[in-house]
Amino acid sequence: MKLCMIGTGYVGLVSGVCFADLGNDVICVDKNLNKIDSLIKGKIPIYEPGLSELVIKNFKNKKLSFSTNLKKSVRDSDLIFICVGTPTKKGRSTADLSQIFNVIKEISSAINRFKIIVTKSTVPVTTGDEIEKILLKKNNKKKFSVVSNPEFLREGEAIRDFTYPDRIVVGSNDKRSNRILKNLYNPLISKGASYLPTSRRSAELIKYASNAFLATKITFINEIANLCEKTNIDIEDISIGMGLDKRIGSRFLRAGPAYGGSCFPKDTKAITSTADKFNANLTVIKSVIKSNKNRSKLLLNRIYRILNKKIKNKKITFLGVTFKANTDDMRDSSSLIMIPVLSKKGAIIKYYDPTGYKKEFSKIKNVHNTDTIKQSVQGSDLVIVHTEWNDFKSLNFKTLVKGKKFIIYDMRNIYSPDKIKNQGFKYYSIGR
Ligand code: NAD
Repeated sequence: MKLCMIGTGYVGLVSGVCFADLGNDVICVDKNLNKIDSLIKGKIPIYEPGLSELVIKNFKNKKLSFSTNLKKSVRDSDLIFICVGTPTKKGRSTADLSQIFNVIKEISSAINRFKIIVTKSTVPVTTGDEIEKILLKKNNKKKFSVVSNPEFLREGEAIRDFTYPDRIVVGSNDKRSNRILKNLYNPLISKGASYLPTSRRSAELIKYASNAFLATKITFINEIANLCEKTNIDIEDISIGMGLDKRIGSRFLRAGPAYGGSCFPKDTKAITSTADKFNANLTVIKSVIKSNKNRSKLLLNRIYRILNKKIKNKKITFLGVTFKANTDDMRDSSSLIMIPVLSKKGAIIKYYDPTGYKKEFSKIKNVHNTDTIKQSVQGSDLVIVHTEWNDFKSLNFKTLVKGKKFIIYDMRNIYSPDKIKNQGFKYYSIGR
């Protein structure tokens, strides 16, 4: 099948290359010329394990191509996947759908034969209806079908998640489109993925409800960790004990910093504002948002206590600044809240992240990137393990640094408290 992915970001590039690898002809379109230029040269603009090899292979095989020409790419394709961003509107909770509607306007004037327009971007309930209305202004209803096919991949595991998904949700009121989509996904269905055909509105809501639920699970265990800290209980025991219950499950039950990333913060806000619009009050999700917002303040207070409230001129190291491991994505990472506050209070901050320098800190006073873990922790007063990269998991701090010992605040509980204490370091972690 001939596919066109509009938006070559985390979702569009990964799903585009995976569809190409399944034997389809895929054009990935982006309005960002630099991005398309570097992809054509084999340079991958994002950090995602395994992605580079797959892009190069399928580009060489001519199954995958890149373009900035949206209209031509749409004309040449049968299925059009919309994968552009749906961030939060500035100063509001609602999703900003301007990227979606800009793309739809362009598609509308490029429809030359029957097209299936598939929204992979996360969009609020009824967006598909609005897209259909816009397309109907210029096109006969027999010329297109609007389908919702939300994406569930996780950054850092994106290729595996796309290739072996738990479920494929396709929301369409049109049998023909449903049949074509099922056929497209057949190689994944035959490997065990569940295929859920549903209404377009249901598909839109399944995505938001899933993300809001996962965010709730994280926030829940984070709050239980607060109680553990007050009662001398190890949160890891609680996570294991709860997770063994099959009704609960162990995933997304690890206490840590506030959840971040490109999805949970914006999607929890968007679903509550959609619900408000329809007069349905999602009080659980609203309190999750509030609790998560408070979490970074809570961890900052813990840092103040650890340093006896003396932050000025303290040397603080962040190991990892991305919102989670195996991605370079900084969107809504809790480090973006904590580092500027500590800098304002006079701390001197070094950070090391396996994905390198972050422009987000370039204007923050006394924040420096280092090339190695050793450089980042040398001479530090406090080392904060912010992101659970494998690179940090088996560090031996005793052999890594000679002389002055620092305090370790392990926000991901990646170390055994006894082992670190035996190495002679003062050690704090989460919920234990
Ligand atoms: P992204 O910001 O990485 O990529 C979006 C791309 O769309 C950008 O490269 C941008 O230049 C391009 N774009 C915007 N307007 C365009 C236009 N008019 N023409 C061509 N290209 C255009 O976003 P992302 O993280 O891939 O997310 C995309 C959507 O998928 C969002 O709705 C998100 O919520 C959803 N989603 C993301 C993830 C994830 O892990 N990142 C997972 C599941 C779903």
